[in-house]
Amino acid sequence: PSLPRFAVVGNPIAHSRSPAIHQEFGRQLGIALSYETLLAPVEGFAATVAAFFGEGGSGLNITLPFKEEACSLASADLSDRARLAGAVNTLWMQEGRLHGCNTDGVGLLDDIQRLGVSIAGKRVLLVGAGGAAKGVVYPLLQAQCAALRIVNRNAARAHELHAHAAGLLPQFAQRLSAGGLDEGQGQWDIVINATSSSLSSQAPSLPGVAYASGALAYDMVYAAQPTAFMQQAKAAGAQYAADGLGMLVAQAAASFFIWHGRAPDINPVLAMLRRQLDAA
Ligand code: NDP
Repeated sequence: PSLPRFAVVGNPIAHSRSPAIHQEFGRQLGIALSYETLLAPVEGFAATVAAFFGEGGSGLNITLPFKEEACSLASADLSDRARLAGAVNTLWMQEGRLHGCNTDGVGLLDDIQRLGVSIAGKRVLLVGAGGAAKGVVYPLLQAQCAALRIVNRNAARAHELHAHAAGLLPQFAQRLSAGGLDEGQGQWDIVINATSSSLSSQAPSLPGVAYASGALAYDMVYAAQPTAFMQQAKAAGAQYAADGLGMLVAQAAASFFIWHGRAPDINPVLAMLRRQLDAA
């Protein structure tokens, strides 16, 4: 019999680590599966998804630039996380219907917990207002952070995300605020960089941002060396600085759980990826 088939769809996609991560999870738990990369043409995402499930595929991860489109495709059966994020990174079929969830946010939370930091009662500064930032707002509020301020280079996008979240989650509206990059003044317990700035070795300029005692700086970007944002945060007094490799593995583990009903151990897979990154 052929193996249950999984894949990650994106454009570009060749460098995705998802196949290695999911195959390693399967090995760990004794679950046989195939997991490949699928390059979808920019205008051909829906057709790629339809063909994959039409041929009996079991589950898809979605990455740039298709997360929003995946959300529309599965709009009839979305998890709360996906609805609030307006983006989907996990698709599967259930009773003939396409379902979507977003596991990026829980991936970040799981990783922050793994680092020994709790979110409840903490003041959180979220830098960025793109797809990655959208995915983490709901899980951060649900985890009972005391305050969440969203700042972005394009301030209008931060205000839009603020309005979207406050509209959908009125019970948390008091804790939310937004502004431009120069409006992050204050003392923060957790500062999350959800911008892609570290990819170009830059850190967002954050005047007036101070790190409280025991504070964590978290960069969603991952690299062999500490990122520009991690270096900036350390110099500004952050006690801990982490990159996003753990988030990547943890979001994959949450997708794996949706598809297989089993929770893999993140640590050995994270250690494997870290070794590969260091050796590259
Ligand atoms: P988007 O393209 O949707 O958003 C990019 C964001 O970065 C915007 O807020 C943009 O601001 C900001 N930005 C880009 N360059 C700069 C700069 N030089 N200075 C300040 N702000 C800048 O991307 P995503 O939200 O999808 O992804 C963001 C990053 O997070 C990516 O690098 C991605 O690799 C990473 N990521 C990591 C994950 C993980 O598992 N570790 C999961 C998901 C994402 P503006 O609106 O002003 O343009």
